[in-house]
Amino acid sequence: MLGRLDGAQVGSSGRGAKPQVQPTNPNAVNEFYNGLLKCLNRGWPAAIAAAGYEFHQPAMAVVFATFNTPCGKSAPYVSFYCSSDETIYLRGDEILISNRDYGPIGASWWASHVGTHEYGHYVQQLTGMMTAYQNLYAAAPDQAAKDQLERRLELQASCLGHVFLTANRRTYPITAQMRSDWGWQIIKIPNHGSEANQRYWINRAVQLKRPGACNTWAAPAAQVS
Ligand SMILES: [Zn+2]
Repeated sequence: MLGRLDGAQVGSSGRGAKPQVQPTNPNAVNEFYNGLLKCLNRGWPAAIAAAGYEFHQPAMAVVFATFNTPCGKSAPYVSFYCSSDETIYLRGDEILISNRDYGPIGASWWASHVGTHEYGHYVQQLTGMMTAYQNLYAAAPDQAAKDQLERRLELQASCLGHVFLTANRRTYPITAQMRSDWGWQIIKIPNHGSEANQRYWINRAVQLKRPGACNTWAAPAAQVS
C-alpha cells in the first residue's frame, strides 16, 4: 500500500530550517508550528510529485482550548490530523506541558515529533494511503483487525515524520541527546503501537532516510503490535 511513494526521496538539506523560536508560551508555540509547517511544505512536494501525486498544502490550526472539528471534539493535549477537512489540529497545551516538564529543548523536540507525525498523516492522504486505510478499516472482520490497521497507520506516520527530520538534519538538527531521550517522547497510547515498535520504525526512518523505510503495511504482525 506504500505504492509509488516507496522509492521517493524527501526534501533536501536547506529546505527545511528548524524554527528559531523556542515553544515556551502560546505565541511561541504558534510561531514554532507555523515555521515547521513551512518547512514541511517545502520538503514534501518533490517526493509527492515524484511518486505521481499532486501536492497541495494542508490547513493547520494550533489550538489551546477544546472545540469541534469534523472529526470530533479536540481533547486537551491531543493533536490529530482530520482527513474530512484535511486539517492538522495541533494542541498547543501539550507543548507547554512538555516545556514545563522538560524545558525548551524537550518542547521543541516534542513539537517536531508531533508536527511531522501529523503531517505524515497528510502525506498518507495525498498518496491515497489514508483512503485505502479507511476502506480496509471498514471491511475488517473484527475489532482486533481494525486496531492492527490503525497501528500500521500511526507507526507509518511517525516513520514518515522522522524520514523528513533525518533528510533535513543539516538545517533541522536533532541531537543524539534528543534522540536518546525517546523514553519519554514515545507516544504512550495503545493505537500508536508498543514503545518498542515505535522505536523500531523511527530507527528505520533515521537509518534509511526515505519513505520506503515506512512500509508498515507489509510488516509482520509482531512489528506493528
Ligand atoms: Zn497519528
